Amino acid sequence: MKVLIVDDELDVEQLYRQRFRKEIKSGLLELMFAFSATDAMSLLEELAPMDVILVLSDINMPGLTGFDLLKFTKEKYPHLNVVMVSAYGDAENMNKASSLGASGFLVKPIDFSILKEKIFTG
Ligand SMILES: [Mg+2]
Repeated sequence: MKVLIVDDELDVEQLYRQRFRKEIKSGLLELMFAFSATDAMSLLEELAPMDVILVLSDINMPGLTGFDLLKFTKEKYPHLNVVMVSAYGDAENMNKASSLGASGFLVKPIDFSILKEKIFTG
């Protein structure tokens, strides 16, 4: 299973790789990273997007936001699940995410047990 993680903070790569170390090592999970919404868009276009089961995207990023990426992804690849991540779990962000088709919303710092459940049990 491939999961694409999108965040403008470079540190997230190390964090996710640590938290999913076992799953990556056993070949259960493949993590890909993009550090802007535009990079994520080109990555999705390059890959066979069918391989990606989940996009996990930060909302606040310089340039295009996570919401722009969410709109793009749901238009082009409606089957792809997108979960939004934000430091702010306010109602406005949450409502916007769900109205644009996000399949979930996680507040930072991420609870990895919840995330693992989302990834591995759908
Ligand atoms: Mg950010």
